Amino acid sequence: MRYFDAAVIGGGVLGCLAARNLMRWNLSAVLIEAAEDVCTGITRSNTAIVYAGYDNKVGSLKARMTVRGNRHFDALCETLEVPFNRCGSLMVSFGPGADRVLRKKYENGLQSGVSGLRLISGPEALEMEPMLASGVSLALHAPSTGTVNPWQLGIAAFENALHNGCEPRLQTWVLGIRHTNDGYIIQTDKGEICCKVVLNCAGLNADKVQELLFPPSVRLFCDGADFLILDKHAAKPQYIIFQESEEKGKGVTAVPTVDGNLLLGPSQRPLDAKPWATSHDGMDFLREATAQVLPGVDLAQVIRSFASVRPNPHRVVWRDGAYIPDGKSIGSFCIENPAPGFYSLIGIKTPGLTCADELGVHLARETAEYLGAGERKSFDPYRKAIHRKDHEIICQCEQISKAEILEAIARGAATVDGVKRRVGSGMGRCQGARCSLEIERLLEAAKRGIL
Ligand SMILES: Cc1cc2nc3c(=O)[nH]c(=O)nc-3n(C[C@H](O)[C@H](O)[C@H](O)COP(=O)(O)OP(=O)(O)OC[C@H]3O[C@@H](n4cnc5c(N)ncnc54)[C@H](O)[C@@H]3O)c2cc1C
Repeated sequence: MRYFDAAVIGGGVLGCLAARNLMRWNLSAVLIEAAEDVCTGITRSNTAIVYAGYDNKVGSLKARMTVRGNRHFDALCETLEVPFNRCGSLMVSFGPGADRVLRKKYENGLQSGVSGLRLISGPEALEMEPMLASGVSLALHAPSTGTVNPWQLGIAAFENALHNGCEPRLQTWVLGIRHTNDGYIIQTDKGEICCKVVLNCAGLNADKVQELLFPPSVRLFCDGADFLILDKHAAKPQYIIFQESEEKGKGVTAVPTVDGNLLLGPSQRPLDAKPWATSHDGMDFLREATAQVLPGVDLAQVIRSFASVRPNPHRVVWRDGAYIPDGKSIGSFCIENPAPGFYSLIGIKTPGLTCADELGVHLARETAEYLGAGERKSFDPYRKAIHRKDHEIICQCEQISKAEILEAIARGAATVDGVKRRVGSGMGRCQGARCSLEIERLLEAAKRGIL
């Protein structure tokens, strides 16, 4: 059996940044991920926004972490060589009810210390962003809002955690957890792992992982979300646009991504029987709402749709033979600590990406304090991205070369999708129709050691 000071369960953006931050301290760590690669869960399917922090309850942990996380995002992305675009956002309203919400958010933002926030008139918003529909009554301009590619951030953090000594256990399912005198034994389908501290970052399974050892306290009740992606050549706004609808929760968000596409979403709907499948209703909603808010967006340029699962954490009580939700969904971040040395992030939804590093720093500091570990002097925060090379192009749409694909494979990509998430192949107009076969061939050759 292997012994570690700390074990992170789950290799989404939260687990990867927790693992990287653990390595800032003098301790040994392992990251256990069920899938064959990191960042294939919610991290792969979200809105990619680095929020400014005006939406959250003033003084809450979420508000503080969002404002701080946003401020630190440039430095984080620079050290990990991940593209980040602080493009700013406009939250727009088209009527008195939504105007009131914007004014409230503006006040919230000022109190939470969001920098540069301005309430502007409809005409000024139209001047700043000519793609907006006329009829905007009020807009909230937040220059600090930005966008990042979530899986690029997670993968970069994972690579840097490994570089600093964290051990990876991919394709390893956590099936059970036992208490010992000095910590925990994690049972997996690949054997047992012993550790003093468990950081449970298992995303949609975080409640179930905690229940492997503790009685139910919080459970996830999920709903679904749909997204659309437009081709890079389609006209797009220069700001992230949030529609504050007159009807609660019914607005669309449009994000000009760091990869150059326009991302529309998310819709909000009940979870389908197939959780990761898109819904007709969701697609229709996105198309209709976009046409109202950004009429110049050419919806014929959609090249991809995808769905996500939104976890809503609820405290539960035992009643009539079952655990049922006890009141409303937990509004703040749910960080459980059911026993010394056991921490769970349960149902971290928006703005979890914005706060991923802050949450990782927090968990790592708790771990170091609990174990009495000092700072690791040799910690190297830097990670080099895979750089563009322009010969032997394999992905014609995105101009990705064979050398880049081989480097992605050398860094751990095990599937065509894993290569895509490292170098962006298959993200263009043909969505991998022309390059997938050749990438599969390279993956196969690498597996056999005949490259
Ligand atoms: C629709 C939507 C839009 C969002 N948009 C934004 C946004 O714009 N900005 C923002 O700041 N935040 C946003 N968020 C929130 C953000 O995306 C999440 O907080 C974040 O991605 C959660 O990452 P994670 O690491 O917890 O989850 P995941 O990425 O799902 O990772 C969990 C990992 O745990 C692994 N795992 C599960 N069970 C086990 C097990 N038993 N053994 C081993 N491994 C296991 C899974 O395989 C998975 O890889 C959004 C969320 C949703 C749902």
